[in-house]
Amino acid sequence: RRMFPGLKPSTLSGSYRKDFRNRDKIDRIKEEAVTNGEDEEDEFIGFASLPEQVHRKAVRRGFDFSLMVLGDSGLGKSTLINSLFLTDLYKDREIPDTADLVERTLTTVKKQIEIEEKGVKVRLTIVDTPGYNDAVNAEDSWKRVVSYVDQQFQLYYQAESGLNRKNINDTRIHCCLYFISPYGHGLKPLDILVMKKLHHKVNIVPLIAKSDVLTPKEVKRLKTKVLEDIKENDINIYTFPECDSDEDEEFKEQDKALKEAVPFAVIGSNTVVEAGGKKIRGRMYPWGIVEVDNPKHCDFIKLRQMLISTHMQDLKDITSEIHYENYRAESLLSSEVSKSNRERTKLKRDSIANLDKALETEQLLQEKEAEIQRMQEMLAKMQAQLQNNPNSQNGRLGNVR
Ligand code: GDP
Repeated sequence: RRMFPGLKPSTLSGSYRKDFRNRDKIDRIKEEAVTNGEDEEDEFIGFASLPEQVHRKAVRRGFDFSLMVLGDSGLGKSTLINSLFLTDLYKDREIPDTADLVERTLTTVKKQIEIEEKGVKVRLTIVDTPGYNDAVNAEDSWKRVVSYVDQQFQLYYQAESGLNRKNINDTRIHCCLYFISPYGHGLKPLDILVMKKLHHKVNIVPLIAKSDVLTPKEVKRLKTKVLEDIKENDINIYTFPECDSDEDEEFKEQDKALKEAVPFAVIGSNTVVEAGGKKIRGRMYPWGIVEVDNPKHCDFIKLRQMLISTHMQDLKDITSEIHYENYRAESLLSSEVSKSNRERTKLKRDSIANLDKALETEQLLQEKEAEIQRMQEMLAKMQAQLQNNPNSQNGRLGNVR
């Protein structure tokens, strides 16, 4: 089976051929070649290793992922982030007192960590918005959040139009975990407003914060209400892509459960507690322990699985293919509009010049008309004189004669 007759293995470099890692596929190709009665070395092209090459290149480069957390202060944002990435990103944090909270406006805090697992590196950026909703002037706060998201697009846009497009530091927000209060009855007006300001710019994943303060029935009720509010207000939250039909049943089940869990009810904890001789991340109560990692207790595992294991790339793709493209289109459009505005002002300026010319002509015409009128008046005067004193005329004429 020669697919590219012109490309012989001898044209491939030795190191290229040595590079193959995907032994299974290679062996299969060799087997097929042998059963077809062909010389195996001759028929060995090697593109079966392409996915492997892409994989190695991507691993070498590492992955960037930026996550934003949004929601009232005290809803457990930093605790959840620490639980998600098994780090203590917030150990230096000072808890502001009440007076500070009222005074404080939003300061966006960016934290970066590099996590590595089995040789795969992820450069994770967490953007925290600590003062969100704290300040009396909440409008200012969400405006800053929106402008922060825009700024990252702008930075990327500028970098992309610059010279060094290969090593762009991608700080665009790939996902926004939106924390909804467990004490309310659905979305608050401010939640709706902020989500609507952001939903075309970033992937919003809604979460029910501190879900351990609610009974399972209450969690269910709140989830339904939040989804209703989202639908009623035409808010576009992140939608999970359809699962490929050739995926196995287990994966399909997992995917279905993930979709049904939105908005994820989460619990965060920075403490490790002992339960039944096992050390687990959880919250201790007089009546028992709530386990963060237990799918029966909350959706933390589902959120982590979605965010890190299964949908990180999709979140990045949607960011760059939809949200960033929207931003780019808007930027191009606004630069076109300002260009046409400039054209229009130029036109105006041109027409002002024309107007000057027209005025000049008009003035000339008027002057000419005035002159003609003067001459007509003189003529009329002379005729009148002639009629009044015909003798003098005759005399003169006579003189001439
Ligand atoms: P942030 O201001 O949103 O970052 O909130 P923090 O992570 O600082 O948490 C505020 C308080 O809520 C802390 O005392 C946490 O221990 C507590 N907390 C965090 N997550 C949870 C949770 O899931 N359930 C409960 N009951 N308390 C939590």
